[in-house]
Amino acid sequence: MAEYDYDVLVIGAGPGGYVAAIRAAQLGLKVACAEGRETLGGTCLNVGCIPSKALLHGSEKFAEAVDGTFAMYGIKTGPVTLDLAAMQQQKLDSVKQLTGGIEFLFKKNKVTWLKGYASFLDAHTVSVNGETVTARDVVIATGSSVTPLPGVTVDNDAGVVVDSTGALALDRVPEHMVVIGGGVIGLELGSVWRRLGAKVTVVEFLDQLLPGMDGDVRKEAAKIFKKQGMELRLSTKVTGVAVKGKTATLTVEPSAGGAAETLNADCVLVAIGRRPNVDGLGIDKIGLELNKRGQIETGHDFRTAVPGVWAIGDVIPGPMLAHKAEDEGVAVAEFIAGQTGIVNHAVIPGVVYTFPEFAGVGLTEEAAKEKGEVKVSKFPMLANSRAKTNHEPDGFVKVIADAKTERVLGVWCIASVAGSMIAEAALAMEFGATAEDIAYTCHAHPTHAEALKEAAMGISGKPIHI
Ligand code: FAD
Ligand code: NAD
Repeated sequence: MAEYDYDVLVIGAGPGGYVAAIRAAQLGLKVACAEGRETLGGTCLNVGCIPSKALLHGSEKFAEAVDGTFAMYGIKTGPVTLDLAAMQQQKLDSVKQLTGGIEFLFKKNKVTWLKGYASFLDAHTVSVNGETVTARDVVIATGSSVTPLPGVTVDNDAGVVVDSTGALALDRVPEHMVVIGGGVIGLELGSVWRRLGAKVTVVEFLDQLLPGMDGDVRKEAAKIFKKQGMELRLSTKVTGVAVKGKTATLTVEPSAGGAAETLNADCVLVAIGRRPNVDGLGIDKIGLELNKRGQIETGHDFRTAVPGVWAIGDVIPGPMLAHKAEDEGVAVAEFIAGQTGIVNHAVIPGVVYTFPEFAGVGLTEEAAKEKGEVKVSKFPMLANSRAKTNHEPDGFVKVIADAKTERVLGVWCIASVAGSMIAEAALAMEFGATAEDIAYTCHAHPTHAEALKEAAMGISGKPIHI
């Protein structure tokens, strides 16, 4: 009889966990994956990346129909009205197809789905839904949940004070949505509801939006979102939210302290970050400790301090991104199978899927300058023929390179398709490219990607179109 029920047990079926499970099975291991949610795919497929992109895409189409964009192209419409129920249904259809797709992949790869929340009994034994299951290696991929704001009660069913899950499921367009937190979720979901007709006010504690992004990008983001009609209250903190019936009254004051004032809203979105999921996991039973931020620390090979227990994705340090979790999922399975898994944490792109999109990879200009001398080149989308033809004047591509070697250290883009453009920059950096390597790579014309080539040409002072 085998010593364990499974070679590998993965806890959590988000982009980290389901990918780890499939890769481990591909490598010939006997694999189970415990997932407590009713569908596979984790936060990303159920209440994150996918439903938010479905609503961003739908709301962008609606906005184009009502804001004069169609008319500019000579497309005449009758009165345009919103069928929010249909827009929500197409979101649910996308989610259903993709979560069902993971279930299909589990079957195809013979990964056993253990339905229920797992809790450690010891390092090789977990309890799932009253059943005891053993495995030689256990991967913790339990992801993250919304960080609560002290004193503010989220009630997604009531729909007045909501988190991202509630904001994705509203059955009405709010009149005034106040977003607490000017990060990725606040700007993406704020954009959705602004496009659909809500007045949107973003209250951000810091003096700029989008922490972690390049300084120029953050400044430009504030200009762009203001131009789109969002009200931005930067350097402002929310000290309380009182709900009466369908109205919330927020008390806000300057982050540095000062006179308080109130804001009324019929919807408040709390989007101040996410925290790792470890409650109920029983990590105390295996002697696993958390760091100051409540995360599980691992080595470069995703081993925790407890032999046989590994961790990946949002529950460990690093950006909370689906593709980072996925890459770690592949790598951890390869390490468990005795191979060498590779994740280059220095080259993980990040994208904000608003219009335009904001994307970056590698170091910000500020961080690069702390490490040494740099050359910086910026090329405006206004001078890119495709962006100009498409009436998309906002944005730029910025390349940051080492001053001596001209090796690319970071790339930042604001463009309608920045999320797709950044893949090329990531690939170039992964291969250790210099700005010249990008500049001398033939780029198809007319494409937005030519702006990256021109920005790279600018490092040696020789862009053509500006
Ligand atoms: P998760 O996806 O959180 O999955 C963990 C799973 O583990 C969950 O399904 C949970 O039910 C399960 N679980 C937890 N505890 C247990 C247990 N004890 N037993 C069994 N199962 C358990 N990232 C991007 O890269 N691009 C985007 O566009 C993007 N958009 C987002 C939009 C929103 C609104 C949100 C909230 C997030 C978004 N993210 C995006 C972030 C992305 O969703 C996460 O980074 C990603 O899902 C992390 O993957 P994970 O596998 O670590 O965890
Ligand atoms: P975030 O960290 O991106 O932004 C939170 C913002 O809230 C920050 O700007 C912070 O300064 C601000 N804040 C914190 N406390 C505040 C307070 N009391 N009052 C006002 N502002 C306050 O977090 P998020 O937007 O909640 O997103 C969570 C995670 O989900 C992120 O790590 C992100 O990577 C991931 N995500 C990614 C995508 C994407 O890749 N497109 C989309 C959505 C979410």
